Amino acid sequence: MIRYISTRGRGEPRTAASAVIKGISEDKGLFVPETVPGLPFKPADMVGRKYKDVARAVIAAFFDDYTEEEIQSCVDGAYDNKFEAEDIVPVKEAGGVHFLELYHGRTAAFKDMALSILPYLMTTAVRKENEDKKIVILTATSGDTGKAALEGFADVEGTEIIVFYPSTGVSEVQKRQMTTQEGANTHVFGIRGNFDDAQTGVKKIFDDQAFNEELMAAGCRLSSANSINIGRLIPQVAYYVYGYIRLIGQGVIRDGDPVNIVVPTGNFGNILASYYASLMGIPVKKFICASNRNKILTDFINTGVYDTHREFHVTCSPSMDILISSNLERLIYHISGDSSKACALFMKDLKETGKYNITDQMREQLSDFVGGYATEEQTAEEIRMLYDKYGYVIDPHTAVASSVYRRYRAESGDFTPAVIDSTASPFKFEGSVMKALGRKTDLPDLELADQLSEVAGVSVPKAVSDLKDAPIMHDIVCDRKDMEKEVRKFLGI
Ligand SMILES: *Cc1c(COP(=O)(O)O)cnc(C)c1O
Repeated sequence: MIRYISTRGRGEPRTAASAVIKGISEDKGLFVPETVPGLPFKPADMVGRKYKDVARAVIAAFFDDYTEEEIQSCVDGAYDNKFEAEDIVPVKEAGGVHFLELYHGRTAAFKDMALSILPYLMTTAVRKENEDKKIVILTATSGDTGKAALEGFADVEGTEIIVFYPSTGVSEVQKRQMTTQEGANTHVFGIRGNFDDAQTGVKKIFDDQAFNEELMAAGCRLSSANSINIGRLIPQVAYYVYGYIRLIGQGVIRDGDPVNIVVPTGNFGNILASYYASLMGIPVKKFICASNRNKILTDFINTGVYDTHREFHVTCSPSMDILISSNLERLIYHISGDSSKACALFMKDLKETGKYNITDQMREQLSDFVGGYATEEQTAEEIRMLYDKYGYVIDPHTAVASSVYRRYRAESGDFTPAVIDSTASPFKFEGSVMKALGRKTDLPDLELADQLSEVAGVSVPKAVSDLKDAPIMHDIVCDRKDMEKEVRKFLGI
């Protein structure tokens, strides 16, 4: 059985189910699989198979303490007609590049790919591990995780779900999605600050031992729906494998040919999942890590120095407005030769000095990663160009990736077939998209959906059309220092 161990080496090794419940290790490290399983099939043999079949096999390979029936039932519960797309993940070609449309789930962003299955993996884990506590999911969001987690966990028995979002750092649609969330176990708070403030505040609550003991005494256990939870990361590996199979099916590549993978990156979860796909056996030539103006990852990949001492920018791709990319810790662990000792030291540096500097040997291990960023202008230009030339409308996050990729290709001459993650529906960021297309009117963001639908020639996703008349259920905005107080209040402790 694959054990899940802490990147910092001092936590107890666990089964997948136990790691899913815990979210984060007791030494504050993140869970990583001690060994990465190989592909459970030959990709060419899976051509024509459904998304669910691929997902089931990939997830089962990692989560081998779950029975086949358990994984099957999690996958069946997650990837059903909640997704407004035939076979869950369409692959669209535009300008010779393949866009993996990961945003057809209930909240119109790729977070649904993992967060529609996490509640099933979690409740199954609770049963398997005989956990008797109520699971309190505590989550910080840069905009999309929050809603996807709320949808996933709303009214799931034995759980409460709490989301903190930066009150002025998300799009209008994102905010409305969260504040209108239904479900008796859902709790949503705006905080005065940015995503890093929200994430730091949530981490602080996780780290507060006295508070956690009080919670346990009250019959509750904290867990996380952020991509630090291995139960979010592993389901994401599946769509990279699926994308590869689709490219074989479309005759773009033959089994065994390398591909480039381009990911608009924030917390480093999504791109890390592609790295795991490659460790499983999917041949990836370059992992192209695309950032917006908050280009800490670009600088890290190009210099080996991760330095948080910099200004934070609010951009039109808010889900990537992040300076502390939690999941990078997992990559650091792997490129240091699976050394938890080295990883723990870097994380200590980060905590104490706000930066760390990896070794030359580790930088060599990073050579398959390409870092690049797009300015706000380049992002808007990319949206306009793809629409003008190919009639294809993408959201600002995807546009960051597409822009970085096209410059990489021009500069390197590397024409390896590429997959770009399309991480959100353009309807989630309709103001920025309409503006980029030169069609900005004075209408508020939420009123632009019909116009965008006409321009793009695609229908408004339900996730957005349902919002206009939905009543506001959550309107609390608090200071970062009061986050724990708010949690106490409704848990009654
Ligand atoms: C969360 C998010 C990202 C960043 O993904 P990470 O896994 O945090 O790197 C990019 N685009 C969109 C639309 C997102 O919601």
